[in-house]
Amino acid sequence: ASFCCSDFENLQVLGHGNGGTVYKVSHKRTSAIHALKVVHGDSDPDVRRRIHREMDILRRTDSPYVVKCHGIIHKPSGDFAMVLEYMDGGTLDSLLKTNGTFSESLLADVARQVLNGLNYLHSHKIIHRDIKPSNLLVNDKMEVKISDFGVSKIMCRSLDPCNSYVGTCAYMSPERFDPDTYGGNYNGYAADIWSLGLTLLELYLGHFPLLPAGQRPDWATLMCAICFGDPPGLPEGASEEFRSFMECCLQKESSKRWSALQLLSHPFLQKESSCSSKSNN
Ligand code: ATP
Ligand code: MG
Repeated sequence: ASFCCSDFENLQVLGHGNGGTVYKVSHKRTSAIHALKVVHGDSDPDVRRRIHREMDILRRTDSPYVVKCHGIIHKPSGDFAMVLEYMDGGTLDSLLKTNGTFSESLLADVARQVLNGLNYLHSHKIIHRDIKPSNLLVNDKMEVKISDFGVSKIMCRSLDPCNSYVGTCAYMSPERFDPDTYGGNYNGYAADIWSLGLTLLELYLGHFPLLPAGQRPDWATLMCAICFGDPPGLPEGASEEFRSFMECCLQKESSKRWSALQLLSHPFLQKESSCSSKSNN
């Protein structure tokens, strides 16, 4: 569809990201609600590169587990904007802050949806590279969708694991710091699985799993924890299925990590349907 800015009424600011602002808007003619991600034409080249990458990827994707882009607006001033599917529940990060930690059955539901999204992206040769709670959006139906493709990568023939310091360092997998030790048979897709594992663990524990609660991450501490520490585990009380699922995601050696498709048939996700009705606590 083709839009211009005057088609929309601004309702509120939803958030600020790297170089852009996201607004909740209403389409004047249809009253449909969208999220509008606006980037200034004079923003720095890095920001422009991120947003073009994101537009490029969203144009190629069509999945119920990936936030939809309905159109792109170019203004004569050089500013441009993406008309995005509006997710009224915000991010999983904000949901954690408002509702507290997630139960196993809710996590299984989240994991299944994100894995469906990752399986879709990976089979289209797209690596997200920045999976974390603040890049996963939810709506009132508790549908979870992957967003923010600013540092994603479309794979072609060659893999360049070394040139990959992008994304949020905290959620980066061991092989992205140290491909020689942990990247045997390097496959970039596995990095998204590691980040998903950390994300789910954070939603379960209520804090970033590689650091004690409350500690502010710095780059060196994180790199040591990721590369030299044991993979984070679950506290007592977690089910065997959940424990096993986490082990499949958080293998330090990337080739031992399960793929999104393999994880979709893990027993942890099969439990979900019977408990999900109880998870509305
Ligand atoms: P960051 O650098 O924090 O990752 P960013 O540049 O990637 O930010 P976004 O994450 O895309 O920017 O958007 C910033 C915020 O706007 C999000 O954290 C979220 O709260 C809100 N937001 C983004 N897209 C949507 C959407 N489709 N529906 C509802 N809210 C959204
Ligand atoms: Mg983001």
